[in-house]
Amino acid sequence: MPSFVPARVLVSRQALDYPLGKQLTETFRRTGTPVTTYDRRVPTAPGDDFREKYLCSKRTLVVMVRDRREFQTCKPSAHYQLPLVSGCPGLCQYCYLNTNLGHAPHIRVYVNVDEILAQAEGYVRARLPEPTVFEGAATSDPISVESYTNSMARATGFFARVEGASFRFVTKYTDVEGLLGVDHRGKTEIRFSVNCKSIIDEYERGVPSLDRRLRAAMAVADAGYPIGFLIAPIFVFDGWREHYGELIQMLADAHSTVSRGSAASGQPLTFELISHRFTSRAKNIIVQVYPHTTLPMDESTRKLKHGQFGYSKYVYDDNTMSAVREFFQTRITSAFPYANILYAI
Ligand code: SF4
Repeated sequence: MPSFVPARVLVSRQALDYPLGKQLTETFRRTGTPVTTYDRRVPTAPGDDFREKYLCSKRTLVVMVRDRREFQTCKPSAHYQLPLVSGCPGLCQYCYLNTNLGHAPHIRVYVNVDEILAQAEGYVRARLPEPTVFEGAATSDPISVESYTNSMARATGFFARVEGASFRFVTKYTDVEGLLGVDHRGKTEIRFSVNCKSIIDEYERGVPSLDRRLRAAMAVADAGYPIGFLIAPIFVFDGWREHYGELIQMLADAHSTVSRGSAASGQPLTFELISHRFTSRAKNIIVQVYPHTTLPMDESTRKLKHGQFGYSKYVYDDNTMSAVREFFQTRITSAFPYANILYAI
């Protein structure tokens, strides 16, 4: 059973010219999901107010063709975003997608996968002999729809064969079966986004549990993929060290069960650490969709930082961040001496 079952599917007429567009249309029609074909603009979500429309959009899958335009860059995790999916059906209150996609949070899948991958190969060739890394999850959780599209598996197999290319994506979802048999040649890194249990219980809905994420992580590690953990967003609250210490211990316990994955094969295990931050734009969406949220979003307690895409973010102050970095560096190095902490922001 897929983790996400859409309540309605919107298919652009152009997408029907592609095998994946046809296949998705047939699949959803067969299962009785309402499928609507549209010509120009994506139809707006029904609902009496913003919250209803937002929640309806989160259950809407849009099948479309991506216009040819330049890929976005993707610091600090890669050189370029790989645009195969955008959006996510999850309901994590703190979600970073609220800043850019909060007014249209439906899940888009692009059916011209071969064209997008060919364009990616062009970027790789232009940078040779320098390596080029693509991020598959910059504006989405692509595994939420992988059981329908198989797009991450196709991209993984593709980049395995392109000299100088590598691929990575991050997910909270667990529909990874289609990736297990792909000839990835160790060139795709799959990271799992995790958090301590109290934060998951309070702020995450509609996404698989931590236990399921860890089982999926170990399954892909057993299939020889390099894996990583993205601990995000890190919140500083009473007892945060104990809560995150427990999380790191759970990750270590799970990772010790891998039979031939990262630890045993010498593949690097990576960590990315992202502290909680919010934009005014995201806060405006969050308070409308989750009116009783307890997310800490008091601007007066934060430092304002100018972001890569023109949005200013409210982040923890420098002293708090030093404490966060020191704690995670010490604990992760002790639990995973072979791990590589890529960044802590
Ligand atoms: Fe956002 Fe990730 Fe949660 Fe999806 S799983 S709602 S992308 S934070």
